[in-house]
Amino acid sequence: MYTVGIDVGSVTTKGVLLNGRDWRHVIRPTGCSPRQAGLEAFEELLGQAGLVRDDISCVIGTGYGRISIPFIDKAITEITCHARGAHHLLEGADMVVDIGGQDSKVILTDGRGNVVNFAMNDKCAAGTGRFLEVIAAALGADVSELADLARGAEPVQISSMCTVFAESEVISLLAQGVDRGRIIAGIHRSVASRVAAMAERLGKGGLILFTGGVAKNDGVREFLARELGRETLVVPESQLAGALGAALLAREKPVRKER
Ligand code: ADP
Repeated sequence: MYTVGIDVGSVTTKGVLLNGRDWRHVIRPTGCSPRQAGLEAFEELLGQAGLVRDDISCVIGTGYGRISIPFIDKAITEITCHARGAHHLLEGADMVVDIGGQDSKVILTDGRGNVVNFAMNDKCAAGTGRFLEVIAAALGADVSELADLARGAEPVQISSMCTVFAESEVISLLAQGVDRGRIIAGIHRSVASRVAAMAERLGKGGLILFTGGVAKNDGVREFLARELGRETLVVPESQLAGALGAALLAREKPVRKER
């Protein structure tokens, strides 16, 4: 039985094709058309596996762009999908901290992949991947380099809460000759403390899985662990938690839309 999960995020579109214990994935930029990105991710998965639409028992869409993709059988919120995917990636995880391109969320689960409670920030870019992208650009770096550039540096205090003001603050710090690594470390701490504050309001998780594209940034992970006072784990597939969860839910509760 083949199922597919498509997670159309603000920055990247992720697709997972699941068959028994095996799964394959694609990640591509969402760009300006969530609909097109979702369709291309789906077609790429089918093409890689040599399958056609009728071979797939159920396709579940998730992420902010899920309403834009017409070929899915059902849409499910990213909160539910992330919780389910995280359970598969790290058995026993009872807290999921997800930092994506334009939102961040903390999900408390029952340790079996079901949502108990959650908190979400989708109103303010601070505490999201977008914030890191803006600051990286101001520092002439790529987001993928930030962790290495800040490794071992003492963080400077970043006082601005807003992305636009924080960008100006970073530019003035650079002009004052403050070391770039220390500025980046300060930015990592600022993102982590915002998200940790959200987690604290939800209660204590025991085993925390960090998901979303920002989970690739080890600097943010380190400050999150420090702020939360608990080990915060990342797995290589962390960015795929939502799409994987969607594919797993498609297998557990398949639905088929009339075509
Ligand atoms: P969404 O689901 O909202 O599209 P993602 O979960 O894919 O977002 O996360 C996108 C964010 O991940 C980007 O804004 C960026 O900050 C961060 N990111 C992506 N790739 C990397 C990388 N290689 N290293 C560090 N951060 C990254």
